[in-house]
Amino acid sequence: MPTVKNFDRKVISLLQEKIQLIQSEEGAVYLVGPIKLPVNLFGETVEFNWYCWLNCKEVTEDFERIIAKLSDINLAEFQQSSVLVYGDFPHTEQALIRFHSICHTGDIFGSKRCDCGYQLKQSMKHIVEHGSGALFYLANHEGRGIGLFSKALAYILQENGYDTVDANLQLGFVDDSRDYSDAIKVLKALRSKPVTLLTNNPKKLDALLEAGLDVDDRVPLWGDVSEYNEKYLKTKIVRAGHLNEGEGCCDNN
Ligand SMILES: [Zn+2]
Repeated sequence: MPTVKNFDRKVISLLQEKIQLIQSEEGAVYLVGPIKLPVNLFGETVEFNWYCWLNCKEVTEDFERIIAKLSDINLAEFQQSSVLVYGDFPHTEQALIRFHSICHTGDIFGSKRCDCGYQLKQSMKHIVEHGSGALFYLANHEGRGIGLFSKALAYILQENGYDTVDANLQLGFVDDSRDYSDAIKVLKALRSKPVTLLTNNPKKLDALLEAGLDVDDRVPLWGDVSEYNEKYLKTKIVRAGHLNEGEGCCDNN
């Protein structure tokens, strides 16, 4: 039985102002924000607006009902996605968008086995330099959608001669099972004009176009090739159809 909660009215009114209901096929996406987030970006403090979202089967404008559920569902056991927004995002003619798939090893530990961490920071830098944009950090996309534990298994296979695509297939996964539909719904709630996509991955562009994203251009993101990720990056070009148009290569992002 969920605990009965008597929230302070002021607390509820403060929170309700910052929550938005987005209807989806399976229920609702509850978007919270903007929240000011000063970020250390290459030694400079840059202020982003941060939003986080949660999927829920229940569709209601009574956000107190949703808030009341939170402490019973142990959200820390699951990951939530979020988005960093920069500039006058709803109104600028052009905006740079990055859909970044979470990479625990690359983004957090700075692993050199891939170039995710590098791409994450570079895309934030590009967005700020461009003046308007958004970085979506997609929490259910680890290892192109296989999850962190399975990614550890895939790395063992990769250490034994399997490439990144075969490793996922050998573990019984499809090579790429990422879904962008919620992120696109959130993007549409934040901006109605077309966007420019930061990616090296044409499949990702196709998936986003198919899911209804209004894209006017694609900008590649290259760099950080090393002896540790050269083979992995080459596989992405040869097997996963990434475009190698810079001096470096690319990754699953
Ligand atoms: Zn990575």
